Amino acid sequence: MTWNWSREIRGRLSNELNELQADISTLDPPARSKDGWKWVLDSEGIFVTRTLSSLIDDPLLCNSISEIETMRNNLVPSKLRIFIWRIIHGRLPVRVELEKRGIDLGSTRCPTCDDDIETIEHAFISCKHARDIWDRVYKWWGAQHATNFSIEESFCGNNGAIKSGWGSKLWQAIEWITGYVI
Ligand SMILES: [Zn+2]
Repeated sequence: MTWNWSREIRGRLSNELNELQADISTLDPPARSKDGWKWVLDSEGIFVTRTLSSLIDDPLLCNSISEIETMRNNLVPSKLRIFIWRIIHGRLPVRVELEKRGIDLGSTRCPTCDDDIETIEHAFISCKHARDIWDRVYKWWGAQHATNFSIEESFCGNNGAIKSGWGSKLWQAIEWITGYVI
């Protein structure tokens, strides 16, 4: 069998290819039958991206909408709330998350600084470029340095910086917008 790959097959993909070849070798296809792909998650057997999107999004959004609703802050648009929800729940395509989902990238190191692996926490909090932005925001609000060292401290509360209602809400909006900008 001759394969014509558009890129080099390595890592986990290469293991999957070996398993596929082993599976195929045990098949005994009837003569003259034409082989093809069948999408088993649809009754028609035909793959449509829209079907796949709704299979992924529906359960995700059903479970999440009420949670996103509780993240109330009318100073920010809902697009931004959803983005912050995705940061908190690891639902953004940083390299470590892509690798967990079986995508072989060759490296999981941060493409921006190359100092560490690219987790959500690294990308939005500890990467030196993110840190620099946080430092500036904190200084703008009167602190010497950023004191947020985790996703929770940055996005799940107001980091204890401001206690009162209006100030706390404003500070939360600023933290969320900072995350979005990063
Ligand atoms: Zn980095």
